[in-house]
Amino acid sequence: MIERVRFAPSPTGPLHIGGVRTALFNYLYAKKNKGVFVLRIEDTDQKRKVDSSEEYIFESLEWAGINPDESIKNPGKYGPYRQSERQDIYKKYIEELLDKKGAYYAFDKAEDLSIAREKAEKETGAFKYNYANRNQFDNSLKISEKECQERINSGEEYTIRLLVEPNVEIISEDEIRKTVRVNSNELEDKVLVKGDGTPTYHLANVIDDHCMEITTVIRGEEWLPSLPIHTLLYNLYGWEKPKFVHLPLILNPSGKGKLSKRDGDKNGYPVFPIAWGEEFEGYREKGFLASAHLNYIAQLGWSPKVEDEIMTINEIISAFDFNEIQKGGARFDYDKAKWVNQQHIQRLSTEEIETIVSAKVTELKDNYNKDLISKISTLIQERVVLLNDIPGLCEMFLIPPKAYDEKGMKKIKKVDLTSLINEIKTIINAHDLEDLKEEISNFCIENEIGMGVVMQTLRMAVVGSLSGPDIIKVIKVIGKMTTLDRLELLKKTV
Ligand code: GLU
Repeated sequence: MIERVRFAPSPTGPLHIGGVRTALFNYLYAKKNKGVFVLRIEDTDQKRKVDSSEEYIFESLEWAGINPDESIKNPGKYGPYRQSERQDIYKKYIEELLDKKGAYYAFDKAEDLSIAREKAEKETGAFKYNYANRNQFDNSLKISEKECQERINSGEEYTIRLLVEPNVEIISEDEIRKTVRVNSNELEDKVLVKGDGTPTYHLANVIDDHCMEITTVIRGEEWLPSLPIHTLLYNLYGWEKPKFVHLPLILNPSGKGKLSKRDGDKNGYPVFPIAWGEEFEGYREKGFLASAHLNYIAQLGWSPKVEDEIMTINEIISAFDFNEIQKGGARFDYDKAKWVNQQHIQRLSTEEIETIVSAKVTELKDNYNKDLISKISTLIQERVVLLNDIPGLCEMFLIPPKAYDEKGMKKIKKVDLTSLINEIKTIINAHDLEDLKEEISNFCIENEIGMGVVMQTLRMAVVGSLSGPDIIKVIKVIGKMTTLDRLELLKKTV
């Protein structure tokens, strides 16, 4: 049997990290099992549809490199892959359900339902349209078939609801939570077909999973409460159920509550893979490598038994195993995400980092110099956390410091800075840069001054602060003349 999985987003806005993780886990499972990864657009709720989201979903998945095998863009034989185009398919199955008496017509007016809802919420805290109160409402269970047909023929608006029999134990299986038992009294007679004749999520989702021969449903835990409804539908149709895997929630860093757009806004991290409009940056724009983003989100709720948690997509695929997915929510940690990114950047090949550096830094792009790019890339690679750090890290090689770090200046000003700078300039002028360190050391011994202060002065002149990569290496990249100029500049500030 060929494993077929699907990612089934609703195009109601951008994909959240949770959505990307669901897509990723589907992709991983498909690849691991040499199966097929389907992308189905669940646009049954046309009112909530946001036009640009479909394209956004494709662009996000493409950036992440988790491309579907079947979708609206590359259809297989199970199409259409957009629910709004599958109405004819649904019609047949709606009829079947009504014939089987698994569903009934409900003629209730929206106002009547909201009055009932308000009253129930006041009295019991919740409203459920089900076995306990369905005879108080206006539905086909209370009238003859003839009357029902007449009302339909006269054009009266109706919905179709699932007929949930009372007091039945509904048993569902989930790969992570194992057997999930729910008494049917807790359920609602869910609306399966809306007033406009189109199916709701529950019905369309189950019919599509069946018709598309989906073998494993992998989705977020927020869909677990829908599982008994789906189980009932499978039972009514007499269809074989797919395997279900409900992934743990992604919690905000405090562990209290789901990770939301608001958390991201408040704490300065993206919750979307790529930018959504002008307003929201994505991981791509923040300077994350797609490989690192995937590596991090793969481990939100999954703890692989591996020695090195920094993994390529192929390593992730081969390690992937549902048995290592946790039940409890996974806490999001932006610092960890950045660390993972840094690790991935450190593992880029020379060629890869050089390509990125030359693309990110205008001066290097415009005056292409392979040797310079290569030297700079080697020196900064281990310091890059986000790709957007690159222009800043390259500045020291391209322009004199814009300012000198105040604390550092206080430290080096303990000596006569003007004469020390003159001495350093003399050493640099007189020797090859290859011997610079040794010459400085000799000078320090002869004049009985600490090597530290000399090196710090040199560093301050060249990069404007007392931290950064090996200063001798930086000087070798920028050359003698530039170093001398920068020493002179520092001297002028004294
Ligand atoms: N359309 C649902 C969503 O937006 C899909 C849920 C499922 O995978 O069954 O997440």
